[in-house]
Amino acid sequence: MTDLTTLSLLEAADLLRSGDVSSRELTQACLDRIQDTESKIHAFLTLTPDLALKQAEDADQRLTEWRKEGGKPLPHTWGIPVAIKDVLCLEGVPTTCGSKILEGFRPPYTATSVGRLIDAGAVVLGKTNTDEFAMGSSTENSAFGPTYNPWDLSRVPGGSSGGSAASVASNMCYAALGTDTGGSVRQPASFCGVTGLKSSYGRVSRYGLIAYGSSLDTVGALAHSAADLLPIFHAIAGHDPLDSTSMPDPVPAVDLDGTDLAGLRIGVPKEYFIEGMQHEVEIAVQEAVRVLETLGAVACEISLPHTDLALPVYYIIAPAEASANLARYDAVRYGPRLEAEDLREQYFATRGGLFGQEVKRRIMLGTYALSAGYYDAYYGQAQKVRTLIKGDFEAAFKDVDLIACPVAPTTAFRLGEHSEDPLSMYLEDVFTLPANLAGVPGIAFPVGFDSDHLPIGMQLNAPHLGEAVLFQAASAYQEVTSWHKERPSL
Ligand code: GLN
Repeated sequence: MTDLTTLSLLEAADLLRSGDVSSRELTQACLDRIQDTESKIHAFLTLTPDLALKQAEDADQRLTEWRKEGGKPLPHTWGIPVAIKDVLCLEGVPTTCGSKILEGFRPPYTATSVGRLIDAGAVVLGKTNTDEFAMGSSTENSAFGPTYNPWDLSRVPGGSSGGSAASVASNMCYAALGTDTGGSVRQPASFCGVTGLKSSYGRVSRYGLIAYGSSLDTVGALAHSAADLLPIFHAIAGHDPLDSTSMPDPVPAVDLDGTDLAGLRIGVPKEYFIEGMQHEVEIAVQEAVRVLETLGAVACEISLPHTDLALPVYYIIAPAEASANLARYDAVRYGPRLEAEDLREQYFATRGGLFGQEVKRRIMLGTYALSAGYYDAYYGQAQKVRTLIKGDFEAAFKDVDLIACPVAPTTAFRLGEHSEDPLSMYLEDVFTLPANLAGVPGIAFPVGFDSDHLPIGMQLNAPHLGEAVLFQAASAYQEVTSWHKERPSL
């Protein structure tokens, strides 16, 4: 019998429909796989096997009815085991954001994205590891220990959705939800050799996503291919009255039949090929663009002139918003409390003792940027430059349909390699931050390996709400290549 965990999401969905396999069998296979490999990977912070088996049984019952009675086809997510990044609330299940300050917190409600995925029949295996409050690029900032890259256990999986990326890459689940504030879906997807979608700002509800940088946060997903991601996207996307920034626009149906990209114009920004980037990454991305050209796309060089300002702008706006969002963890409303003499000392003891170094660094940076006398000079100025960066994308999308570029300057780095130097860690995000500042969607997918056999990723960006064309181009590429089918040997 074939190992069920090596199937793609769509292959598993087909077997469920035909009755050749049950959701219970898929779920048990994933739980067994987790049992075998989790001690090496540490992808999960919480496992929910009882919930998963119960959901699987419900899914099987509905599938049996559907096979007897026919009727409207069930979504491809039906009965499929998935994982959820531990910054998204699931009622009654511990949700920590990778932080000691939320240890023991069980949310009384479920995030819209998670709820919609469950309504679409998905089976939740557990909550995945993340950098504390999604601040980081390596998952080393988790208060509960790092996740390890399934391709090389001495390397990071990327971050902050490193647990989600590693869980998919090591066949523990068929897809996982992640979040992307500055690259946290795309960069770990790239480091772990899987496909990751960052949705447009406002496309997927943020209700029940514990906030990091509210004007940048997006919910996305990771799976083995664009085709596998599409049913996840359709389950979670769309207007939600519970999120005031959620877009009312309908989510288009996407047809992934075929590989004809005739007429598609792809811009390759010259600012994204910087000095010091890994040569193999540059070569692999250029080669992938050539593959897209063989499918009929036309590529040309473009310019996004304010690209080098994205990093400083992001590292003012994101910490500023984070400092406001994290003010609520005051030892009174959530999580554990470190008792002290008086209320003020209790704040200091709890926040000082339970937030990690990186989170405290960002709270201080953000508080400074928002303080009286500095607000206009830092936060106000950063917002103005952000408008210029958004303008770069708008101008480019007058001439091209897609932008193609690397996801990160390097492949997965070693654990500890950037831990002592936050700035060098921040540099890992240079190619992913601009899309968050502009609010546009992006997809990252594998396009090769470097000489250490570590996956290399390419990113495509589309105009706001242009996810359909991202899926079409990435899926066409994956029809004619097989990088996304490679699996690490564990
Ligand atoms: N690495 C970036 C940061 O630390 C982005 C993180 C994210 O997208 N959540 O802020």
